[in-house]
Amino acid sequence: MSDRYQLFANSPVGRLLTRNLGLPAPLVLERFDANKPLVNGAVLLGAAPNAELIAPIARVLKNIHAEAYAGNQDFIHQTAASDAGLSLRKHNVDDKESKFKAFVFDASGIKNSEELVEVYNFFHPIARQLVNCGRVVVLGRTPESCTDPKQATAQRALEGFVRAVAKEFKKASTAQLIYVAPNAENQVESSLRFFLSAKSAYVSAQVVRISPNDTQVNLDWNKPLAGKTALVTGASRGIGEAIADVLARDGAHVICLDIPAQEADLNRVAGRIGGSVLGLDITAADAPQKIADFCKVKGLDIIVHNAGVTRDKTLANMTPQQWNLVMNINLSSEERINDALLANNVINSNGRIICVSSISGIAGNLGQANYGMSKAGVIGMVQAMTPLLKAQNITINAVAPGFIETQMTAAIPFAIREAGRRMNSMSQGGQPVDVAEAIAWYANPASAGVMGNIVRVCGQSLIGA
Ligand code: NAD
Repeated sequence: MSDRYQLFANSPVGRLLTRNLGLPAPLVLERFDANKPLVNGAVLLGAAPNAELIAPIARVLKNIHAEAYAGNQDFIHQTAASDAGLSLRKHNVDDKESKFKAFVFDASGIKNSEELVEVYNFFHPIARQLVNCGRVVVLGRTPESCTDPKQATAQRALEGFVRAVAKEFKKASTAQLIYVAPNAENQVESSLRFFLSAKSAYVSAQVVRISPNDTQVNLDWNKPLAGKTALVTGASRGIGEAIADVLARDGAHVICLDIPAQEADLNRVAGRIGGSVLGLDITAADAPQKIADFCKVKGLDIIVHNAGVTRDKTLANMTPQQWNLVMNINLSSEERINDALLANNVINSNGRIICVSSISGIAGNLGQANYGMSKAGVIGMVQAMTPLLKAQNITINAVAPGFIETQMTAAIPFAIREAGRRMNSMSQGGQPVDVAEAIAWYANPASAGVMGNIVRVCGQSLIGA
């Protein structure tokens, strides 16, 4: 879908007008390009004293061939970094000319609120030195794993900092907080790669938790899903089509599922990516068993519950049909499919269940009592099933998209559509690929420690923030 205002705002006249009138000026977001470095510019690494995550961070920076510089406290982390094979270049804080693509700050050593000043000490001198579409990643310890309440408090405080700079740094930059639980240090690579790269273009102000997991994989990071089989529901168009494309790009064989009426589009998508076609309505009574039977032979590594519908009406005007259809497609059928896949042992070890919720499920939305309820239920399902699935070495996570440019949002009346598009830190809607990239991060075999997360793909939408 085209965003005419964004095209205009990026023209010479538009740039002038938006600047002078103080109108939103949505930059064209950088998106992943396999021909460019994963992080296209210098990375500045900083840490608070007693940082515990420098070695795993340094290993990732080395693996992605980052041009890495040491910020403050370099005397502390220089050794840890070089042990991990990364030689850090020196950055002089008085040098205001150098620009950075990413700031990475290890806050894991912060033990109390006084020590939070280390966050200021690192970020304040360099706050103007992040380039367009820059990345800020702060790593800390999961507050619930801290035995000292003062440490838990300080670690929790990091959330407010990240959400504030996500708004403040502007120029389409993003900021995230990654909480690493004790013994999960070896699980950070897939998440750091995602949040430092252009793959997370429309994901900002998110808090992610990484849990311990024994799974260690040896990956070709260009084809992380090679040999894997994925099923994507609602794959004939919109976000589902983008998910199928991205999972296939990453090497998966994708089974594309949609209702029989979408057969032509489904064949087009599956044909393009060398996938298989499964035409059925997920609400049909026999659908869960049919899906399980279809996937049984090779087993399934990834299921993406993407199919979803809206039937918006205020509650007083909503028919039972509208209520039931939305609840059934968006939530109940997902539960039934999961049950059938698990009962038939179809999901392979280190498997993934990935759900598509919505910021409507977080914030609620006028006219969406049915939809908001179904999408909040999806979040509940993720949270409830995480510990149960852990025992089977399967993760479950969800994305919660904000305003994404698809046929679903094209149907929204103009004024509401424009508001939805602009009311976020990027002043624009996201693209289906933005949701798909987040799903590919969850799907990555190296994301075994990423479980029970709800990550919004909404450009830091004001709705539900
Ligand atoms: P879309 O309407 O373009 O695509 C949805 C697909 O699901 C369609 O191909 C449809 O045929 C399929 N589908 C619907 N009912 C089905 C059924 N019973 N069985 C099988 N397939 C069925 O929508 P989209 O914008 O691509 O949305 C995809 C998902 O993202 C949905 O779950 C939606 O709720 C969620 N979402 C979208 C946005 C957005 O801004 N577009 C925002 C938040 C969440």
